Amino acid sequence: MPPIPFNQPFVAGKEIEYIQQSIESRHTCGDGSFTKKCHALLEQAVGVPKALLTTSCTHALEMAALLLDIQPGDEVIVPSFTFVTTINAFVLRGAKPVFIDIRPDTLNLDESKLEQLITPKTKTIIPVHYAGISCEMEEILEIAGRYGITVIEDNAHGLFGKYKGKNLGTFGSLATQSFHETKNFSCGEGGALLINDTRYLERAEIIREKGTNRSRFFRGQVDKYTWVDLGSSYLPADMLAAYLYAQLEVREAIQAKRQQIWEYYYEQLQDWAQQHNIRFPIVPKHCEQAYHMFYLLMPSLEKRQALIAHLKAQNISSVFHYLPLHLSDMGRKLGGKEGDCAITEDISDRLLRLPFYNGLTLEDQARVVASIHDFH
Ligand SMILES: *Cc1c(COP(=O)(O)O)cnc(C)c1O
Repeated sequence: MPPIPFNQPFVAGKEIEYIQQSIESRHTCGDGSFTKKCHALLEQAVGVPKALLTTSCTHALEMAALLLDIQPGDEVIVPSFTFVTTINAFVLRGAKPVFIDIRPDTLNLDESKLEQLITPKTKTIIPVHYAGISCEMEEILEIAGRYGITVIEDNAHGLFGKYKGKNLGTFGSLATQSFHETKNFSCGEGGALLINDTRYLERAEIIREKGTNRSRFFRGQVDKYTWVDLGSSYLPADMLAAYLYAQLEVREAIQAKRQQIWEYYYEQLQDWAQQHNIRFPIVPKHCEQAYHMFYLLMPSLEKRQALIAHLKAQNISSVFHYLPLHLSDMGRKLGGKEGDCAITEDISDRLLRLPFYNGLTLEDQARVVASIHDFH
């Protein structure tokens, strides 16, 4: 039987045409016409004052750490159940991660545990909208506001998801997006920084352009461009923005397809899951999810490993994540130990992600479902 991968890069249709246009425009480096189109589309569709494409979500997070002037010893509250760069971007500036456990239902940071972790050194809180299902932003923003702490959303999973009718990415002072191959919309490697607090805007442009005021120079606001601040090269080639634009412009169709895939798993596996004591993702009523993934919570680590092996025998790839960051080699060096985040540790052993990508055919999905039905 042919393999069914866990993920497969997607081509919406016009990628090559747009890349060719970008080449012919003789502006293939950053901030060309397709980058501008992506910025305008993200600003309008998400409803943020400013979007800036970056070379990755990791780099957007690094920009956020620079914008917040993170200093050695500053504390950053972050879920242990996330991708490594959510926090590594801040550790690069000398920050100390303060890992918070997750809620057992949405697997998002548990806002009821937030206040007890805040100290005078807390600089920022980073909610991650896991699987594109929103964190409890009202409570998080209320607590952060009371202590004067900046909130940065890691919205890598959540583009076009909503919380109480409002788009994810509009709640934090800053938010970060990923356009990595495994995300809903992709250009291979890419990302974006969304800026809601416009006080960060001018410096964000400078940091993204190697610490220079090049953006202002091109707008005619200054008559020479020079080194003015810290910075790096965080802007992607316009050819990559061309690829991305071909996907973003058909975002409704892509999201509808992902919704269909998600609902098919849900409906087809419901009875089986109930019989075997397996839990599905929980989407609270006030959240519209972004359909980033479909996961199963198995009853035990052994069952999870057995299902991965069972699917592998049918040439179907399924994966698990995240290994708790506080128990990683780096996390332990920073003081993490067993029991710090009990729910994260438990969930991490039992979660399994099924194949999920824009080009997944109904036929292949039916094969995944049939294979799972054979698992006991
Ligand atoms: C994918 C991901 C990132 C990193 O994105 P890149 O674009 O690969 O740097 C960060 N945070 C979360 C939650 C992610 O899923």
